[in-house]
Amino acid sequence: MSLASARAEYDKLLALGLTLDLTRGKPSPEQLDLSNELLTILDPGDVRSADGVDCRNYGGLTGLRELRETFGELLNVPVDQLLACGNASLTVMHDVLAHSMLSGPPGAERRWADEPGVRFLCPVPGYDRHFSLCDRFGITMVPVPMTGQGPDMDVVEELVANDPLVKGIWCVPKYSNPTGETYSEETVRRLAAMPTAAPDFRILWDDAYAVHHLTPERVATPAVLAACAEAGNPDRVFVFGSTSKITLAGSGVAFFGSSPANVEWYSRLLAFQTIGPDKVNQLRHARFLPDAEAVLAHMDRQRELLQPRFAAVYEVLEEELGALGIAEWTTPRGGYFISLHVPNGCAAAVVKLAREAGIALTPAGAAYPGGKDPLDHHIRLAPSFPSVEDLRQAMRGVATCVKLAVAQREAAVA
Ligand code: PLP
Repeated sequence: MSLASARAEYDKLLALGLTLDLTRGKPSPEQLDLSNELLTILDPGDVRSADGVDCRNYGGLTGLRELRETFGELLNVPVDQLLACGNASLTVMHDVLAHSMLSGPPGAERRWADEPGVRFLCPVPGYDRHFSLCDRFGITMVPVPMTGQGPDMDVVEELVANDPLVKGIWCVPKYSNPTGETYSEETVRRLAAMPTAAPDFRILWDDAYAVHHLTPERVATPAVLAACAEAGNPDRVFVFGSTSKITLAGSGVAFFGSSPANVEWYSRLLAFQTIGPDKVNQLRHARFLPDAEAVLAHMDRQRELLQPRFAAVYEVLEEELGALGIAEWTTPRGGYFISLHVPNGCAAAVVKLAREAGIALTPAGAAYPGGKDPLDHHIRLAPSFPSVEDLRQAMRGVATCVKLAVAQREAAVA
């Protein structure tokens, strides 16, 4: 497309005066409505858990057992090794890192704060808040490419085998944020079994999208905790999950699963922070989602709302950009994101043009440590929140911005 016609198309977009937001993977109001029953499900006569605990009172650091049973099944963690915590798994991830810094996890020779610098492997593109946590704790991020089956394990194995300061790796094993890929059995087996120079190496297994299927297929991942135990590395993995994108994003329940030694370690330190989690909210969730089948049925209803939004994005991108060969996009089988790849050097320009046209996109580079995509080619699209009609309009606008950014770049290098 010529620069002049791309510019003319963009001018028409500007004239529309849009205000649309595709930045964060938030559930839509319709998705939240699916969980409205949570707001009224308890009445004053219903305050006790299955084992007779009065949920209004202090105590019960592990969280409600019946809820842990349900989510233990879905997260592949034995119930006695799973804690039900507060409203955000991000808090648990933060705490696990803070405790590792201040106390050292089981197996550590010293506190991480006393190491001459801790390094984490960060599969890229990845989740920006994982990277912010590393920044927060002064952890150096080492990017590792994703392959479509999880991180490049040849690179991972080499780095962990030789550097005792590599203490961890971030993993979003299913419908990863933002690539949508799911780790293969081979990847999980190698992560569990690989020799590591650090005796206290940890996999931070963020199973945020464990049940967030976008197709009728419920993709499964191998049970990483069992794989680590079988490989002789029982303490290697911390499993995180939450109901943030199952029920209410701000008022869900987070989970932490690990080996008995790690759970004992975390519980001991957690006891300084709280006398117990919000058991009333946990009871609400236990009533609303009484077993794993109920969670999966609830997620089928979420899928009915999400799938048409993803389909609208694919349809408009195909219509507008398919024949031009200037962009590629993922079509994930689950999760919350689509990765849009534009020609190298164009992503930041697309996001800027879109912003000026009233379409807010996640900043280019956000999926990379330090917010820097070395190729400046990746844009994360979050289709969950806007209506299908708004999404169509936003994506037509994004396509216009891609065409103009590419035409501008071609003109600049010609
Ligand atoms: N982990 C991943 C990979 C996510 O994409 C998100 C939200 O976007 C979260 C964690 C946040 O989870 P929570 O709400 O439980 O803190």
